[in-house]
Amino acid sequence: KVNVTGLKKSYGSNVVLKDINFKVGNNEVVVLIGPSGSGKSTLLRCLNKLEEPTAGSIIIDGQDISDPHTNLDKARENIGMVFQHFNLFNNMSVGENIMLAPVELNKLNREEARFVAESLLETVGLADKFDAKPASLSGGQKQRIAIARALAMKPDIMLFDEPTSALDPEMVGDVLEVMKELAKDGMTMVVVTHEMGFAKEVADRVVFMADGYVVEEGTPEEVFDHPQHERTKSFLEKVI
Ligand code: ATP
Ligand code: MG
Repeated sequence: KVNVTGLKKSYGSNVVLKDINFKVGNNEVVVLIGPSGSGKSTLLRCLNKLEEPTAGSIIIDGQDISDPHTNLDKARENIGMVFQHFNLFNNMSVGENIMLAPVELNKLNREEARFVAESLLETVGLADKFDAKPASLSGGQKQRIAIARALAMKPDIMLFDEPTSALDPEMVGDVLEVMKELAKDGMTMVVVTHEMGFAKEVADRVVFMADGYVVEEGTPEEVFDHPQHERTKSFLEKVI
């Protein structure tokens, strides 16, 4: 589904991603962990071309997204992204936030989009918030809306960049629960998170990055219980 080979990304003289080789299979849930500054967000942002890679190839659903002939807007429609800060449009209602992209991009007419938005709100446990303004919601509720909004485009991959890091502890569970359900329904997911409990329970594979490389990857048991590299061990000692 996703095949990244030899990916490099520099900002000026700062080489952030040095040689990333990274795959995600269909229906696979990959949790990406690593120290601050190791390039996790940069890797996610390269996957949907929010960042231009310096070198390497990124193939998603058989399409080389660095090929200038690839229709980038179409490719992006298939990739949902959820950030630490929800980036909802505060001047619109919750329902309008969810309907916006599919209607603007002529994927759905307003009536269809409304139906989709209502059913997604039900999925994330916020069926009564269609007409609410984002400002009236808690952080956890906003993040669940952000997930619903990404899902409205019917992506076949979802990227999450620390979706629960900005939340009060009591809100984290509800958001993780929505993500678990998505995983159960077979969504292909790449999740950057410090929630090791979630990683152990939901990840098919854990990828540990440090200093711009994938240092180690494996099942949660392999990486958490039997880490092979010193770098992984010292990281895990700090976070678990
Ligand atoms: P964190 O856990 O803190 O979110 P991260 O693993 O997501 O860290 P990145 O955000 O990918 O790390 O950043 C990796 C490096 O790239 C950092 O040194 C950062 O300063 C640099 N960097 C990221 N974005 C930019 C940018 N737009 N311009 C210049 N440097 C950047
Ligand atoms: Mg980051």
